[in-house]
Amino acid sequence: MEYNLTDAQTVKKLLSRQGFTFSKGLGQNFITDPAVCPRMAALCGAAKNDGVLEIGPGAGVLTVELAKIAKKVVSVELDARLLPVLAQTLEEHRNVEVLCQDVLKTDLNALLKEHFADCGRVYVCANLPYYITSPVLMYLLESGCPFAGITVMVQKEAAERLCAEVGSRDSGAITVAVRYRSEPELLFEVKNTSFTPPPKVDSYVIRLTPRTEPPVRITDEAFFFRTVRAAFSQRRKTAANGLSSGLGIAKDKIFAALEQMGLPQTTRAETLTLGQFAELSELLRTSG
Ligand code: SAM
Repeated sequence: MEYNLTDAQTVKKLLSRQGFTFSKGLGQNFITDPAVCPRMAALCGAAKNDGVLEIGPGAGVLTVELAKIAKKVVSVELDARLLPVLAQTLEEHRNVEVLCQDVLKTDLNALLKEHFADCGRVYVCANLPYYITSPVLMYLLESGCPFAGITVMVQKEAAERLCAEVGSRDSGAITVAVRYRSEPELLFEVKNTSFTPPPKVDSYVIRLTPRTEPPVRITDEAFFFRTVRAAFSQRRKTAANGLSSGLGIAKDKIFAALEQMGLPQTTRAETLTLGQFAELSELLRTSG
């Protein structure tokens, strides 16, 4: 039986029959706007021979759209209370497998080998639980998995930071990390009224296309990311302040590195480009 998962009353009835109540803590806002999930599935890039990894299927509204376009869908859902619901809503979609586990504790490389070996490319498409947006995106990007594209819905403010240009007012440490590993783009806006229950803020669907080569040359990635985090750690102050306390390097050495780059001592982290962060971390790494 096909369920109309974009009809809020149908979804509520289906969920309450299983004794399910929405958990705010798990970011459970389900899409009930019929225009959203088909559009996300169409934009995620997956074709008939490809696999899709979904995070947090909820009642399955996006899952069924992904099942129509891809060869196989694997949906990782943490909340076991949703399993009987998904068993009903996905009954007719034989190419979907639901794994009940925490995505952040999932060995993604093993999952790809086990479930997508017979697929062409593998994509990620998800309406992410908002409380773990950045950790999940970094987990995906740092996994080393060859994802062809990551199309996710995130809260508007997070989308703006994730897709900002490095060196612009909206940028932060996560902007640099995302840009270093992928090419991000904003796809479309989703109003808060598109969800049941509606969250307080609007959302955006964004796409991260993982890079095969980093855009800048870095000798020590771990130190590069420590530098970026330290530079942004005191947002109201200069980068030198954060760098000095975050990296434990004397201020005069930070000033010397900035001067070598032709930058003033008052430089702020959000004005630095990816290339400048790379250069700065190289200079500080060897400033001893
Ligand atoms: N995809 C559905 C939709 O669009 O209506 C539900 C999206 S809802 C924003 C987020 C989903 O992620 C919920 O089903 C929630 O239970 C699940 N979730 C929360 N934390 C998770 C985790 N750590 N691992 C996997 N799923 C998680």
